[in-house]
Amino acid sequence: MNPIDDLEKANKIINYHKDELGLKGTYELKIKNNFSNLAKPDSKSLLLPFTIRFLRYHIMFDRQYFKNLNEKEFTAVILHELAHVREKHYLKSYVFWAFLNLFLYHTLFQPYNFEIWFIPFAILSFLGTLYFMDRKFEFAADKFAKEYDNSRYKTSMVNALKKAKKFRYKKNIISKLSHPTIEDRIKRLEDS
Ligand SMILES: [Zn+2]
Repeated sequence: MNPIDDLEKANKIINYHKDELGLKGTYELKIKNNFSNLAKPDSKSLLLPFTIRFLRYHIMFDRQYFKNLNEKEFTAVILHELAHVREKHYLKSYVFWAFLNLFLYHTLFQPYNFEIWFIPFAILSFLGTLYFMDRKFEFAADKFAKEYDNSRYKTSMVNALKKAKKFRYKKNIISKLSHPTIEDRIKRLEDS
């Protein structure tokens, strides 16, 4: 199997599945070297792909990881990212966080004039949202993508995740809270 190393083809795959899933907006693949200028060019570290929305949807990919995936594995990773958008995971997390800040904070603290706690509360509730919402959405995106592409997703995604394990996958506090371990995702996919 040839590695997918063709941006035009990769964008075609994204657009095909985006249309199939009825998603609006423009999607663009962004390939980055280790996602950071700080990383040495030969270092084996990567962040797992993720999607950001800034006017259009940017699907962020580490260059080495992109080059290591074959077409089926790349497609599985894209389906996982599109599932997050389709299921409105980013919006749901934001609404949950806003709810905590607007409702819970005002109910718990404001009657006591605890305005000083607002920033620590906002940070804590953000970390809580990552753990209680985003972490679950990782499994939910896998489940959605598996149901959409029943014949191929499971095997291809497990293979893509196994390839990610070969890198020193970067774990900062945000990715630790918001993502289950690669092992947990593989196990959940294999058990389903
Ligand atoms: Zn995800």
